[in-house]
Amino acid sequence: MIVGGGSAGWMCAAACAQVLHPERYAVTLIESDEIGTVGVGEATLPALRDFNELLGLNEADFMRETQGTFKLGIEFRGWDLPNENYVHPFGSFGELWGGVEFQHFWLRARQQGLAPPPFEEFSVAVRACRRNAFDFPSATTVHSTFYGYAYHFDATLYADFLRRWATARGITRVEGQVVDVALDGASGDIQSLTLKSGQRIEGDFFVDCSGFRALLLGQKLQVPWEDWGHWLPCDRAWAVPCERSADFTPYTRSTAQPGGWIWRIPLQHRTGNGHVFASKYVSEDQARANLLGQLDGRAQGEPRLLKFRAGRRAQAWSRNCVALGLASGFLEPLESTSLFLIQKAIQDMLRLLPSPEARGADERLAREFNRLSDSLYERIRDFLILHYTANRRFGEPLWDHVRDYELPASLQHKLRLFDARGHVPYYKDGFFSRDSWLAVLFGQGLMPAGYDRLADFMPRDLLDARMRELHARVAAHLGSMPAHTDVIASYCGVAPLRKQAAS
Ligand SMILES: Cc1cc2nc3c(=O)[nH]c(=O)nc-3n(C[C@H](O)[C@H](O)[C@H](O)COP(=O)(O)OP(=O)(O)OC[C@H]3O[C@@H](n4cnc5c(N)ncnc54)[C@H](O)[C@@H]3O)c2cc1C
Repeated sequence: MIVGGGSAGWMCAAACAQVLHPERYAVTLIESDEIGTVGVGEATLPALRDFNELLGLNEADFMRETQGTFKLGIEFRGWDLPNENYVHPFGSFGELWGGVEFQHFWLRARQQGLAPPPFEEFSVAVRACRRNAFDFPSATTVHSTFYGYAYHFDATLYADFLRRWATARGITRVEGQVVDVALDGASGDIQSLTLKSGQRIEGDFFVDCSGFRALLLGQKLQVPWEDWGHWLPCDRAWAVPCERSADFTPYTRSTAQPGGWIWRIPLQHRTGNGHVFASKYVSEDQARANLLGQLDGRAQGEPRLLKFRAGRRAQAWSRNCVALGLASGFLEPLESTSLFLIQKAIQDMLRLLPSPEARGADERLAREFNRLSDSLYERIRDFLILHYTANRRFGEPLWDHVRDYELPASLQHKLRLFDARGHVPYYKDGFFSRDSWLAVLFGQGLMPAGYDRLADFMPRDLLDARMRELHARVAAHLGSMPAHTDVIASYCGVAPLRKQAAS
């Protein structure tokens, strides 16, 4: 039983339709038209391509249906100093030499007066962003020119698309509002749901996708909320789409503001915008005016206000219930992580789903699921805090606060390692890993005092020559990469904006 038909509910339903054997698992999704969905969530991470592959979706169809565009990373404007910017790309910087990470050679070159080119110029994805260019990565790409891509899309069209896809493949959809949740008297597991219409629906295993309400896991099972608002103080967002503009970027833009930041997400038919802010530092009215004053096209409708808290449920799986999406936790959309967290949780849940004979709860499976979920949430939390805490926006109360507060111990450790030796976290699975940390650490103006001494193995002249050769190779890879707008036009059959304007 899936409760909720936002992105979380329908992503879960679609994956169940694709993976679970229909003779062993009957899946029903309940959603309430009256309550509706949060209707935002338009920027993604490259892992979504794996999810689409799991469903067997045709990419061009998917992009046409959701008005999608390509995303090579995120541009951060003014996050360190008001007039500076950097890109966090989905791709690598440089390459390993003798098994040693590239940043150590770059740091050594700087420290030894070789004046290497800027770090970002060793990334194909950053250079493509700077040129508004896009091309599909080649299957034969080597590490030095490796990059991936994700999508921007219309969140409402995405949920509609998945709804059609999943119901066509055997998922039962029930429209109605759940007004009561009954527990089994003996085990304490969830037993049934009652709808406003009086209909009672029983189930063995329940997925709470009810959004911020967390109807099952939070309200009924009383799993406590862990609040992270002291580290991530933004608690509101205004969201408003505007007309599509000529600046058709293959990246999301995040522009820091005195009380938070503004996102800009280009889609085929419009641009998505929103202002995430901390109500302690800026009023709702000020934030609204600030957002409307920075749109690059005419607003389409009135801005919508969304309220949230940063944090997560102490356990995302309790008894015979797993929460996905906003019901399980929320981290502000600074690195577009929510849909990724949903996708990862769905994959883990399906791996660990009890067999139908077990009829629901299995403590061992729940514990493993919660372990995986906790570590991912904490890594992303640390990464988000890094963007805030490493700033030089002196004299602005929000930015002064986040620069000075006490960091989680796990982040303190990462920052000390980087400062001493230029070391960054590297994980085999999950986000965020080496190149992402490097983009943000350097982008936020942090420069380590040292580097890994293994990088000393290379003679100085050779280091200089290889640095220049690699720089030229990355630039050459970009070659005549086409404009993002032209790729969307030929791939999805949309007229490029400048041609529309000319005609
Ligand atoms: C400001 C903001 C910006 C965001 N930007 C991004 C982004 O760029 N990238 C990204 O990955 N994520 C982003 N997110 C997160 C993303 O929007 C959500 O993770 C995603 O939409 C999933 O939401 P959901 O399905 O959990 O909840 P919702 O969309 O709220 O859906 C909840 C569902 O539960 C149903 N429901 C609730 N109560 C009941 C009931 N009693 N009975 C029956 N049904 C019920 C509702 O009708 C609805 O169908 C953003 C979030 C916010 C707040």
